[in-house]
Amino acid sequence: MLLQISTTHHPATDLGYLLHKHPDRPVTFPVSAGEAHVLWPDARPDLATCALLLDVDPVALVRGKGGPDSASGPLAQYVNDRPYVASSFLSSALTAAFRSALNGSCRERPDLVDQPLPLTLRLDVVPVRGGPSVIDALFGPLGYAIEAERLPLDEAFPAWGDSALYRLTLRHTLPVRDALRHLYVLVPVLDDRKHYWVGTSEVEQLVTKGQAWLEDHPARDTILRRALRRQRTLIDAARDQLVSDAPEPVAEASATVRESALEKPLSLDVQRRQAVVDVLRASGAHTVADLGCGEGKLLRALLQEPSFTRVIGVDVSQEALQRAAARLKLDTMPERVASRLTLLHGSLTYRDARLDGLDAAACVEVIEHLDPERLDAFAAVVFDTMRPRTVVLTTPNIEYNVRFPTLPAGRLRHPDHRFEWTRAACEAWCTRVAQDHGYTVRFDAIGAVDPEVGAPTQLAEFTRCP
Ligand code: SAH
Repeated sequence: MLLQISTTHHPATDLGYLLHKHPDRPVTFPVSAGEAHVLWPDARPDLATCALLLDVDPVALVRGKGGPDSASGPLAQYVNDRPYVASSFLSSALTAAFRSALNGSCRERPDLVDQPLPLTLRLDVVPVRGGPSVIDALFGPLGYAIEAERLPLDEAFPAWGDSALYRLTLRHTLPVRDALRHLYVLVPVLDDRKHYWVGTSEVEQLVTKGQAWLEDHPARDTILRRALRRQRTLIDAARDQLVSDAPEPVAEASATVRESALEKPLSLDVQRRQAVVDVLRASGAHTVADLGCGEGKLLRALLQEPSFTRVIGVDVSQEALQRAAARLKLDTMPERVASRLTLLHGSLTYRDARLDGLDAAACVEVIEHLDPERLDAFAAVVFDTMRPRTVVLTTPNIEYNVRFPTLPAGRLRHPDHRFEWTRAACEAWCTRVAQDHGYTVRFDAIGAVDPEVGAPTQLAEFTRCP
């Protein structure tokens, strides 16, 4: 397996400082399953490429047994009995070759550690279980532009069926440390196998390398499941640690949050939550329901505000509620906080008397998960039965999807979304529902507003007419 990391940052040879490898000095070192070489195919001021080449022992073994020879093409050495060795072996080799860079330390040029650099990562021959959609789901949300070329299988190996091997090119502008951590965690996840026994130390590795990106990754659960070989206790431990290591919701004024979100596209989630808390706080509500609370991030933010004396989280998914309980550390929560919180299992399309009489309700990124023919039932439950004074609802603006470079045209943002609305469609639905149920509604935009397609998230605040 070959990994090439290139940059056109000026001077590109700064990459040598970051990787702690001198562009003039190739090195070879032993790793558990063979040898790794670090070399520099390009080391010019305008382009530097550092290559990590892995020589995996089984290849030599296969060759020794009269396996594929060089005439079988460049793929032959990988088409052996243990091609999977290559991918988790890459993670081991990354640690061996670039330990300081992975840890985010650079003695000679500490200023470079956090600096986003234009990077191209090329991986030759990556085994991928599940095809290109898995590559997209893992690297897309992190902001990579992805090129995945499926490699043809040699006819000499019919038993292999279709090749599950790809040549992968990932482009992004980000700190080298982050790119290495993404590869460390995600390349073995693509492959869905590991060459070593996975135990508790693997959880620690994932939590350290996943810092600041894995916790909120939309494919987090698949990543943990694959990385930890479907061992439930390890998966739960990793999830708990990721969640408890995550920064607390930002508590500054929302203008500050909005500003920082412009710089950091992944914090749209934080920005949205802050906007919702702002609306709820301004409404003067004391008792609030989070409808479709998911894993409880909004609940946590609401509990941090003493003015919310009663906070109810509802979700149709038991698993989501269990995660919310873990995230909020419900079992060890101080009694005075726990007494303000209730988690309820229930569906928003059925009347639920436990939700009657509250001041406000939030419904954040949930409506698009409901079947369109159930929307009237949802509106009746919220606006006729619960009838809180304030309802704040957020949902994606589909027009903005063209601004996500890695989202294929026509694809919705999440596989479980039943629809996504344009601004006009959202305003039409909300206005009609408000009129039918005796509410007024105002709209707001969350995230950077694009002059053509608007903001990524739309917010509607409903207020009950007196
Ligand atoms: N509000 C959370 C979660 C959004 S994901 C956040 O912003 O992070 C959508 C959530 O809605 C999921 O947790 C899903 O289980 C829940 N959901 C979907 N349909 C539902 C229904 N009919 N009733 C209640 N919850 C539902």
